[in-house]
This record gives sequence, structure tokens and C-alpha cells, in this order.
Amino acid sequence: MDVPLFDTETPLRPLKATILARVAEVIERGVFILGPEVEAFERELADYLGVRHVVGVANGTDAITIALRALDVRRGDEVVVPSFTFYASVEAIVTAGARPIFCDVDPATRNVSCETVKAALTRRTRAIVAVDLFGSPAPVPELRRFGVPILEDAAQAAGASLDSRRAGALGDAATFSFYPSKNLGCFGDGGAIATDDDHVADLARTLRFHGSRDKQTFEYVGYNSRLDELQAAILRVVLPELDGFAAGRRAGTRAYEAAGLGAHVGLPAVLEGAEPAWHLYVVTHPRPEVVAACARERGVQTRRYYQLPVHRQPAMRRFAIDTPPLPGTDELAATNLALPISAVLDDSQARAVVAAVAAAQ
Ligand SMILES: *Cc1c(COP(=O)(O)O)cnc(C)c1O
Repeated sequence: MDVPLFDTETPLRPLKATILARVAEVIERGVFILGPEVEAFERELADYLGVRHVVGVANGTDAITIALRALDVRRGDEVVVPSFTFYASVEAIVTAGARPIFCDVDPATRNVSCETVKAALTRRTRAIVAVDLFGSPAPVPELRRFGVPILEDAAQAAGASLDSRRAGALGDAATFSFYPSKNLGCFGDGGAIATDDDHVADLARTLRFHGSRDKQTFEYVGYNSRLDELQAAILRVVLPELDGFAAGRRAGTRAYEAAGLGAHVGLPAVLEGAEPAWHLYVVTHPRPEVVAACARERGVQTRRYYQLPVHRQPAMRRFAIDTPPLPGTDELAATNLALPISAVLDDSQARAVVAAVAAAQ
């Protein structure tokens, strides 16, 4: 049985007619940048998350850069970030003018922990970027004890929650990506910043439009980084389905467990009180490439992620000189394997994946 790594198409199929109608309305209206669709989507996503403000921007990477500046991170400030994440989580810190300080992750949760973050804190730490990696919430409430502003990178975690609070509502600010393969995807690039803080929201809103409030006076050197009306209109159709999609993803992982996946590979540990959104379902195995090859022969797509952790990337050399050993990061880089997951992964697909994984033993 062929099982793809992602299936974003099937869940969106029943929405396509509505999406096309909304896109046609936007084209009729003729307003394409910062109009009523963006404004309505920002309100709807804020209500969904249970936060006061959402600011739409051009992508999830810009969202991090703009959010850090809105949190008053300045040139030369240190920002703690896990090395085991998508490169953009760190790149955006450098773009904001700050210095990334790499921390480790707990190989069980794949996320930062209080211990790994603490080891990276200094007097110069101005913010922590806590990534909800693979859609599983980071321990943001516990990280608050350090008294440092927390930016939650929730790009992979739309639809997740921790103690009944939504991922994206856990930190001082949070960022989302609406890249098509993300859990809340649009049909192009898009991103957003969520926050309860009026000042952070106001500054982010100003920075996304060249640092200007009125298009006449320019207070900051900012960005041209806006979510556009077409993408916002599409996202307004998809957002009401997000919880259903996340439930489907969780059902997929339960089907894996029921089919005995845990006997063959290491399953991700989840924080108590967390409902992950499983953007990716990443297991561990001492020889992941052997499992991947065996799965491929049986039509099951898998993928290895972040095999070269960010602190070892060529562009990050100057920021990684003082990075201590990150054993959790190295372990995950060497052992991780993402298995197929989607909102519509069914029991028979889950059994086929487990059989393919089991055949590699
Ligand atoms: C996708 C992603 C980003 C960047 O989002 P883009 O919209 O592609 O710029 C940032 N952080 C994480 C963890 C991501 O997965």
C-alpha cells in the first residue's frame, strides 16, 4: 500500500468550491493588500487562540523577526533557541540583529526543557524562542520562571494545546506559518504574530508596513511583510476545520500505537496536559536509514529531518563557536525518522506503515 508522508489535498477537497467562491469575491472587490479579509482573519484567529491580537505577515520567518523586534530585542542581544529546529527559527533571530544562543532539546519530547534553556541563559539573554516542534507544545508555562520574554514558534503547532490553552497563546508572543504543508496552510506564503500585549501588537503592525502607521511618516526601519487578501480569504475557510484536522492527526497516531508501532521504534513523549497537533510524527531508531529504505520498498514515504542541526550549518559558524556539546540534538539528528501523518491517515494505512517499519528489524 502506498502511504505518502503528507496528505494536505484530501482534507481540503471538500472546501475547494467554497475557497474558489471566496477567491472570486476578493478579485471582484479588487482589494488585495491589507483589506477586510486580513482584518477578519486576524480577528477570527485571535478568537480561536484566545488572545487579544493577531497580526498577519508575509510568512512564518518574517513573523519571528518582526515579533522579536516588537518584543524589544535589540542589536547584539542574546536570544536562546534550540538547534534542533527548522533553520528559519534561528535565521530570523539573526535578521532581527540579535545573536542566537543555541540550546539543547530533550530527546524524548524533541523540545526544549527548563534544564536545556537554563544552561544557555546569560545576563545578556533578551528572549527565548520556544519551538513547539513537530506540533507538540514546548513547556512554555515552566519556562516563564526565568523571567525572560518568550516567543513561541508555533509554526508547526496550529491546532495543538497545553492545559486547554492553545499553542500560539502560551508565550509573550507567538508566530505561525501558513506555508501550504503546515497544519493551517494557505495556497502560498503567509504568517502571523499572536499576542496579548497591546504594545507588541502595535509595534508588529507598524513594522510589517515599513515602520509606518499612516503611510506618511516612517518611525522605524521596518519590513514590507503582509499577509495578502487572497491568502487571508482562503485561511478563513480553513480555520474552522483546524480542530477537526488536528483531531484526525491525533487519531492517526493512536492508530499507530494500536498497531504496535512502539515495539519497533521510539515514540515521541508528550508533556502532561498537552494535545499535540502532530505536524510531523517523528520516531527514533538507531538505524533510521535502514527503516527508511525498507519502508520505501513497501511504498511508505518517510523523511529524516534536521540531520545537520542548525548550530552546525555553515551560515551559523560565527554564532556556534561557544556552543557547548548538545547531546540531545546530536542524538535526534542521528536517529529521527518522520512517518506519514495527516488529518486523514486511516487504520489500514497505519497498519501498513507499522508492518513496513517492523520488516526492517
Ligand atoms: C515553517 C517553519 C518556519 C518558517 O515559516 P515560513 O512560513 O516557511 O517562513 C519557522 N519555524 C518553524 C519551526 C517552521 O516549521
